[in-house]
Amino acid sequence: MARLVLKFGGTSVGDVDRIKNVARRVKAVVEQGNEVAVVVSAMSGATNQLVKWTTEVARLHDTREYDTVVATGEQVTIGLLAIALQEIGVPARSWMGWQVPIRTDGAHGSARIESVDTSEIEKGMKQGQVAVVAGFQGIGPDGRVTTLGRGGSDTSAVALAAAMKAERCDIYTDVDGVYTTDPRIVAKARKLDKITYEEMLEMASLGAKVLQTRSVELAMNHGVRVQVLSSFSDAPGTLVVDEDEIVEKEIVSGIAYSRDEAKITLRAVKDRPGVAATVFGALADAQINVDMIVQNVSADGEATDITFTVTRAQIDRALKVLSDLKGKLDYEKVLSDPAVTKVSIIGVGMRSHAGVAQRMFQALADKGINIQVISTSEIKVSVLIAEEYTELALRSLHTAYGLDAA
Ligand code: ADP
Ligand code: ASP
Ligand code: MG
Repeated sequence: MARLVLKFGGTSVGDVDRIKNVARRVKAVVEQGNEVAVVVSAMSGATNQLVKWTTEVARLHDTREYDTVVATGEQVTIGLLAIALQEIGVPARSWMGWQVPIRTDGAHGSARIESVDTSEIEKGMKQGQVAVVAGFQGIGPDGRVTTLGRGGSDTSAVALAAAMKAERCDIYTDVDGVYTTDPRIVAKARKLDKITYEEMLEMASLGAKVLQTRSVELAMNHGVRVQVLSSFSDAPGTLVVDEDEIVEKEIVSGIAYSRDEAKITLRAVKDRPGVAATVFGALADAQINVDMIVQNVSADGEATDITFTVTRAQIDRALKVLSDLKGKLDYEKVLSDPAVTKVSIIGVGMRSHAGVAQRMFQALADKGINIQVISTSEIKVSVLIAEEYTELALRSLHTAYGLDAA
């Protein structure tokens, strides 16, 4: 007998028939003699609708009330799944985040889980009751409902698995595993049997939304075994594992992309000490996250350009910060471009191989795709390109690194 956490995403609980399908899957796992907790997301599209309503009422609004609204999607699905389970003879009850409780910090809209007290739900589970827990939500230090950021149900599931010392956390979704790249964009993407925590962490943080970044971080830190698999088929999924469990290490195991980027260039900034500190200090003070940065050496020792990226949602705020700096900072003008994509290659094998980045640059050059910004770390190389070339770049890189499915 094992203790398992099963998580079902939005598409998997997208309508009543799908919820009944999930109930049957859960029942099968229970009948194998396992103790089961289930985490569910809101029905697909529900959270988007809730978010839209909050912004329609007011573009800038109280994030505590935003959480009150957007957390409701999961309340519907936990109740419906508990009913569906009861209907087929499986004892079950629903749990809201605050009822568990799942405690978070107070960063409404993107809260981090601080602790999960599983003693109450475990009492029920020991008597054969399935705990159906709302993903994406918790309770903050102010006693109010918080949400964990988009895609946060993955994190709820892993946190619950860590707290319950579950054997494994199975993430059921609408694809049957983690692929070399987004299978909805590259038809030749290949399913991976295994991927390392480290690579999965990079893939997620560089845009592969199959797992929320924070969930991978938690799994890695707490040694939670995570499996990604389909709720619509019985195909084997992908296991996220330690590096030593993978015998044949690929140089590049995956390619990720993010359209959630916007590029800003400060043209002809006076080249003197303190400029970068002033620019990025002001952005940080405004809670704006800067991702990629390039600054050129000035040709004449007088003026240079600084280019950086922020998320698309933050571009207006970033531009406002820069225009407010005009008195303090000497620059010619600000240029911005929201139509850019960051494409990244990821692989632990990169550490021990030369020429990996060069192959990327060549593959893009062969297709006439211009690279606007480059950034690298030990196991990844990212480039910023025009958004219109996203698919072409992904497909070309996938082929260039020998990742295409046969
Ligand atoms: P859920 O609602 O189940 O949480 P998500 O939509 O959040 O599902 O995540 C699953 C989606 O992630 C897939 O439909 C797929 O388009 C996308 N995706 C992006 N990159 C990858 C990848 N490398 N492997 C698998 N899926 C990926
Ligand atoms: N329902 C939430 C969202 O759409 C959480 C999740 O699906 O993981 O972001
Ligand atoms: Mg998701």
